[in-house]
Amino acid sequence: MPAWQTALRQAVSSVEELLRLVKLDAAELDICADAREFPLRVPHSFIRRMEAGNRNDPLLRQVLPLHEEWREKPGFVRDPLGEREAMTTPGLLHKYNGRALLTLTGACAVHCRYCFRRHFPYGEANPAASHWDRILTYLEHHEEISEIILSGGDPLALPDARLGELAGQLAVIPHVRTLRIHTRLPIVLPERVDDQLLGWLGKHPQRTVLVVHCNHPNEIDAAVTVGMQKLKQVGVTLLNQTVLLGGVNDDAATLIRLSESLFDAGILPYYLHQLDRVQGSAHFEVADRTACELMARIHATLPGYLVPRLVRETPGAPGKQLLWPAWHG
Ligand SMILES: *Cc1c(COP(=O)(O)O)cnc(C)c1O
Ligand code: SF4
Repeated sequence: MPAWQTALRQAVSSVEELLRLVKLDAAELDICADAREFPLRVPHSFIRRMEAGNRNDPLLRQVLPLHEEWREKPGFVRDPLGEREAMTTPGLLHKYNGRALLTLTGACAVHCRYCFRRHFPYGEANPAASHWDRILTYLEHHEEISEIILSGGDPLALPDARLGELAGQLAVIPHVRTLRIHTRLPIVLPERVDDQLLGWLGKHPQRTVLVVHCNHPNEIDAAVTVGMQKLKQVGVTLLNQTVLLGGVNDDAATLIRLSESLFDAGILPYYLHQLDRVQGSAHFEVADRTACELMARIHATLPGYLVPRLVRETPGAPGKQLLWPAWHG
């Protein structure tokens, strides 16, 4: 078994164990132990990047189930993007022109408390073997699709033998020019970038883009940087998406440091997402006005290529909605 799969199996799923590792007392925190629908999950390599004894650690806050999640707030719903309806073929989302997104698996290396997929019906949404043929047929018949996005869950939670096989089937669709992968795994578990992954990805005949998901500069350590360098060497374009999260990264200094750290690791910032208003995530929300003020600070400090696009996903829109800069005509 590859080292990353062993590390995934050893991921921490007990709140008590996590708190012991980061030297915190449950009594200091408003923990919600009952997180059965979306349980705690975090690998050791990510825990090692947390600061021991810091209950406000930005990495800890992303994974620790708190009581706040149970507070209902109007507007925060179970399926904020209406993805159940958008999925005409199970496992395939074709919402935007030219791009189709495949939810390959419901599995993730880490359970992010703010995730809009926390209530997602993964059982129905995975293109099991029986749906894969339908998906391929759809992609082959829609010549306007020039880019296929592998998403999830986290597509890199799948073994490379399977991914290599799927990629091979996508590679022969003549109108598809780009294979894009949306993944948090190379950040959370850098050993995921191993020779098997580099093997099939490096040989892939279409352009390859990897969009990682990193929310805080503390997530980028030496091992992450090494993985990114290896991906670059096999010709992969590296981008990042961040979710703007109250108490994690909602200050200009952190976001500026994040852009610079990403660039040091060979990654360009792509999107800064406003949270999807999913039930249980209201305590992470940052007001649009604050988000725009943060953007103005980043823009005034960094070169243009290190300024992410502030966006929100809006059901029915032709693409992500750009929130900044506002146009004052
Ligand atoms: C975000 C998203 C994409 C990709 O959008 P880009 O703006 O190209 O990054 C494609 N399909 C779906 C369903 C998405 O949610
Ligand atoms: S890795 Fe991505 S899909 Fe998985 S829980 Fe985190 S945000 Fe959600």
